[in-house]
Amino acid sequence: MSERPRLTVLSGPSGVGKSTVVAHMRKEHPEVWLSVSATTRKPRPGEKHGVHYFFVTDEEMDKLIANGELLEWAEFAGNRYGTPRAAVLERLEAGEPVLLEIDLQGARQVRESMAESHLVFLAPPSWEELVRRLTGRGTEPPEVIERRLQAAQVELAAEPEFDVTLVNTSVEDVARELLALMDVV
Ligand code: ADP
Ligand code: 5GP
Repeated sequence: MSERPRLTVLSGPSGVGKSTVVAHMRKEHPEVWLSVSATTRKPRPGEKHGVHYFFVTDEEMDKLIANGELLEWAEFAGNRYGTPRAAVLERLEAGEPVLLEIDLQGARQVRESMAESHLVFLAPPSWEELVRRLTGRGTEPPEVIERRLQAAQVELAAEPEFDVTLVNTSVEDVARELLALMDVV
């Protein structure tokens, strides 16, 4: 009997609702540990250093990469993002459920380096709805939205590489399904 994988990776195109689903899930199940990534992107209004991301300079990101401190990292739509390795390994060793919310390139790296990982793809109900959500969020200028939609086409095409697909029609339903996959409920 193999146990359920304890490392869950949630990926999906920008704007599909990953952050919304994860926030909803953690409100009711704060014991699910979400890795806080480092990024060179500037904070959006309301985003806090150390909570949503560790906001770092290009030089700091160079160092994190050079020192091998990241479990994986990728450039996404003009910024770099990476998962601090030590915290993830500590939580896994403690037997806690660990969740990474990262892009496709990062998911592929984790699949290679962490055999026990479980890859979950969050898909939009339709392309039109994805465009609506990304635009409606109102956090990015049109040229950045365009770049993220180009990346989204690549990400959607990679869906078959994932172990499971969840369609984000209802935040509540997807959060419940994700918890069940992580064996939390
Ligand atoms: P991501 O983290 O994948 O980039 P967000 O969580 O920021 O996406 O969600 C993008 C936008 O879509 C937000 O405005 C959010 O409120 C909205 N959204 C998320 N999930 C749903 C849903 N199931 N139905 C309708 N709107 C949603
Ligand atoms: P955003 O700028 O919208 O917060 O994130 C953009 C993309 O970067 C999303 O697809 C998000 O999942 C991804 N991302 C966030 N953190 C990481 C990380 O540590 N590594 C990788 N590879 N992608 C990340």
